[in-house]
Order: sequence, then structure tokens, then C-alpha cells
Amino acid sequence: MKNFNFHARTEILFGKGQIEALPKALAPYGKKVLLVYGGGSIKRNGVYDSVIKLLGENNFEVTELSGVEPNPRIETVRKGAKLCRDNQIEVVLAVGGGSTIDCSKVIAGACFYDGDAWDIVLDKEKITKVLPIVTVLTLAATGSEMNKNAVISKMDTNDKIGTSSQEFVPMASICDPTYMYTLPAIQTAAGTADIMSHIFENYFKSEEDTYVQDRFAEGILRACIHYCPTAIEKPDDYSARANLMWASTLALNGLTGAGKGQTWSCHPIEHELSAYYDITHGTGLAILTPRWMRYILSDKTVSKFADYGVNVFALNPDEDPYKIANKAIDLTEEFFKKIGIPMHLSELGIGTEKFDEISQKLDRKFDDAYIPMTPQDVKKILEMCL
Ligand code: NAP
Ligand code: FE
Repeated sequence: MKNFNFHARTEILFGKGQIEALPKALAPYGKKVLLVYGGGSIKRNGVYDSVIKLLGENNFEVTELSGVEPNPRIETVRKGAKLCRDNQIEVVLAVGGGSTIDCSKVIAGACFYDGDAWDIVLDKEKITKVLPIVTVLTLAATGSEMNKNAVISKMDTNDKIGTSSQEFVPMASICDPTYMYTLPAIQTAAGTADIMSHIFENYFKSEEDTYVQDRFAEGILRACIHYCPTAIEKPDDYSARANLMWASTLALNGLTGAGKGQTWSCHPIEHELSAYYDITHGTGLAILTPRWMRYILSDKTVSKFADYGVNVFALNPDEDPYKIANKAIDLTEEFFKKIGIPMHLSELGIGTEKFDEISQKLDRKFDDAYIPMTPQDVKKILEMCL
């Protein structure tokens, strides 16, 4: 196991009705709040009204930034940073999914940065001071409610880039599973694929002595596989929503990645697909993951895939490891199909035209990955996804 620092500063306020705790969660940071949200789902499902009522009753001064895009854009970050400066904002309140939370994080950092906000996306060392961030989560997927990461897109140059700072970690996050009752089925499915991918990215690593992390990881994967179909069939199933919501937080708050190498495999490729084609993050990951798994299955990786098959899908441990591994990969692909994710890039209107460009952009990015990949490897995996 590698050395690691694990610091979990976010207060998680989990469960039905926890929105009542919002004024108390914001109070330590001031009265001037930037309320950030997306394209309007929170207005349609009543979350916006609850938030505005509580902020009004408790004399917060609210400035709003709406319209954060899925795959949030740098232009929206710039707009938010200006609002913070013009209104002497003291705390940023993100209400939504990962896009809204990520956008809020970079706004909170950019408002103290003198140059262009894109600089702090390209170079996290430039992030110095950051406004405190509080979140109200409405979509189980990214773990952004308890982590230091933010991913921002700049579509004119086809860039989608992750940045991070310990100061981006939210102070508090309200996670009410009932807020997810209104999610479209495809967002529930894509969110679950993202949670599972966060686990896979850390689970499939060379380290052999991360028993604790790996058993946690398998438990979270089993929860996703167990509860996602229920949440899709019955959107207001509280247990299903609650388990998925907690799974999303735990999958990427440092717990299962502790003591592991840092380089991921499917996420960087997905970010390129989103940067060129603006696709839903979790959909891209679901398409890539089983193909990447098949591509890297070898004598070096087979025992890890067999562990996955036995501990997640309850496959027979006495079978040949390759048989277990292949079956586990088949079951992964079948699961994504079953929850309604289109499993071919061609279904999203994506052909081979940018594969060379995308693969080249990722040159040397996978030198320290579980299985290092060259641009030629990336291109072959993309071709398997067509
Ligand atoms: P999202 O982009 O925040 O939201 C997706 C869609 O779901 C939006 O159209 C949103 O509508 C809608 N939605 C959200 N909550 C809803 C609800 N309760 N009811 C109905 N509709 C709802 O999705 P996400 O998967 O959470 O975030 C994806 C972004 O996070 C990507 O950019 C991805 O790269 C990034 N990401 C970040 C991390 C991290 O560690 N920070 C990790 C993985 C991925 P409205 O806009 O109308 O609200
Ligand atoms: Fe992700």
C-alpha cells in the first residue's frame, strides 16, 4: 500500500428533510450567498423553492447564477467569478449535480485569481484562496459533494480538463435521496455508471495489499448493481435512491483510492469524447469500460478480474480465472445495457473521424496507468466502442 493523506472535512447531512439544516450549514461563512444551479430541474421539482424560502427566512442575501451546463463551460465559471466579486459573495451554494458543483468550485477559486479562470483549470498550483462551498446534491454520480475535483469544458478548443484543490472540498453537503425522484432514467443510469467507473479506476491497479479498499470497492459496486434497476423501475424507491446517493459519495471521497496509484484509464478518454461531442459523462464511461476491460485482460490482470467476478457477481471461484474474468466483463456490459445505456458510440452519432486526434492528445497520459497505453492502444479501444 502506498502512503496517503486522507482528510474528510465535508459535513454530510444525509436523508429526507435535511434541507432544514441549510441555514446552519451556511451561517459560519457569512450572509452573502451565490446560489448556483443548472438548467431548471430544481425549479420543476421544488428544491429551488425550499432553498429560497429557507434563505429568505434566515436573512441571507442571495445572488443567483443559473444555467450551468452539463459538462460545465469555462464561460459560466467566468460569469460566476464576476458575480462573486461584484457582490462581495462570502459563500457559494451549489444546488444540483456534479456539473453545478464542479462549476461552483472553480468559480469559488477564480474569484480570487487575477488572470483568466481557465488558467486555474490548466494549472491547479494557481489556485490559492477559495470561497467556502456548500452543496445540495440532486444526482448520485460524481462524488463532487465530498471531493476536491472539478472538471470544466472549453468547447472552442475541444478541451475538458480536471483540476483540483483541497480548498474545493465542500464544507457541508445536503444529500436528500428524495431529490432524485425526478431524475430521468438515463441520468440515473449514467450516474450509476460514473460511480462504478470511479471504483473501477482505483480497483484495477497493480497494488496487491489494498484489501480494505478493495472490499469496500466491491461492496459499493454490488450496491450499484443491486439498486440501480430498482431506482429506474420505481423512481421514488427511497432505499434505492439512498443507497445510490451514499455510494456516489463514498466512491470518490478518497476512501477506495487511498494507497493506490493516481493515473486513471477510462476517465481521460471519456473527457476527450465529451470535449468533442458533448456527450453525457456516465454514458461515455459505460461504453468505454467493458471494452477497456477486454483490451487489458492478460496474464498480468486476470487474477484481479477474477476477484471482481467472484466478489461482485458471485461467480464460482473454482472455475478457470480467464473464464471468470471474461464472464465478469460480459456481465458488466450486460448490466449497462439492462439499465438502458446506449452501448455504441455510433448510437451517439460518433464515427472514427476524430479518433486519431483524440488518441494523440492522450499521448503519454497512460504511462503510469494500471496497464500503460499508447495512442495506438487508445485508438483500438475506441474502435471497439463503435
Ligand atoms: P449533471 O451534468 O450535473 O446533470 C445532468 C442532468 O441531470 C442535467 O440536465 C440536470 O438538469 C439533470 N438533473 C440533475 N438533478 C436532477 C434531478 N434531481 N431531477 C431531474 N433532473 C436532474 O450530472 P452529473 O453526472 O452529476 O455531473 C457530470 C459532470 O461531472 C461532468 O462534467 C463530469 O465530467 C463531471 N465529473 C466530476 C467528478 C468530480 O469528482 N468532481 C467526477 C466525475 C465526473 P439541470 O441542469 O436542469 O439541473
Ligand atoms: Fe466521473
